[in-house]
Amino acid sequence: MLLETGARSATYKLALVTAIIDICVEYEPAPDGTLAIPLQEITHRVIALYWNQTRTFGEQGRLRQLKGSGRSLTDAIAAIRDRLAARGIKSPEVAREIEDREYLNFARTETLRVSNMPIKHLQTAVKGSHDTDFLYDASEFQREMTHRDVERINHIVLRPGVADGLRHASTLLKTYIRALWTRDVIAINPTELEENRLEQFLFGSDRTGLSALTNPLRELQGNRCFYCDSRLNSSVHVDHVLPWSVIPIDGVANLVAADQRCNLAKRATIPVREHTERALGRTDLKTIAKLARFPLLHERTRSASVGIYAALPHGSLLWRGKDDYLEHI
Ligand SMILES: [Zn+2]
Repeated sequence: MLLETGARSATYKLALVTAIIDICVEYEPAPDGTLAIPLQEITHRVIALYWNQTRTFGEQGRLRQLKGSGRSLTDAIAAIRDRLAARGIKSPEVAREIEDREYLNFARTETLRVSNMPIKHLQTAVKGSHDTDFLYDASEFQREMTHRDVERINHIVLRPGVADGLRHASTLLKTYIRALWTRDVIAINPTELEENRLEQFLFGSDRTGLSALTNPLRELQGNRCFYCDSRLNSSVHVDHVLPWSVIPIDGVANLVAADQRCNLAKRATIPVREHTERALGRTDLKTIAKLARFPLLHERTRSASVGIYAALPHGSLLWRGKDDYLEHI
């Protein structure tokens, strides 16, 4: 497979593939099976994937994701992350939702880097060979590109069937990519890193950010657990309805308040449609998002739910409540 060829000098390709897979879960392909993905959208997703990874990791400080000493994409992301945080903007999703000029300029600049690096090189295991352009046609990316080229090319087009295939295999592929990515970070950084703790750091959701939503969601739900309707006590969890490990959407539309019992029982399972529909049908989310300075991401959550249920094999078990599953039909 294209991700196994030799030692990687950076994790950029893994970020790119993950971004493409997530987009395939959320976007509907064209009738001919192709899927056009704007380069800016890919870059935004890549930035979002690295966003939490540029926090300091315990005593190790910031982890490197590129061999050598050049200024890396993650250095640039760490810098803008700090600048936006100083203005109270906590995520690239919020920055994009409020059309923050500094962020949009940054994303535009980095689109050139993402185009010149992972998009150009993802499928070329052997230098100069284009035979492996099986995901998308990368021939336009072969020379050193400028901003003007990037604007002209604008998007990549996944070949017929690719989007559907990636959507169906997304959970499996992402598990595999997370393992490779963790291993690469261990190889790139000089200090010893503990694999399990590192993987959780790189790919877990940043729970500290979610706590701002505990009270507003709790209030919205009349102090009852979203899933089982029990009265909430002091240990309230903010839960991703569509699991974070399946699709990383930290938007209010995908977040609910749950008691510990349901939160622990549900974990990373996909809930029954009824839960998801109910989460998407909630009103007043806009106000909560605005007050907590959190993105809403209603449209993304909705389209991701369509993609996730469509790709689930019949007979898969969906989570309804503690020890209560329903077969997906
Ligand atoms: Zn509950």
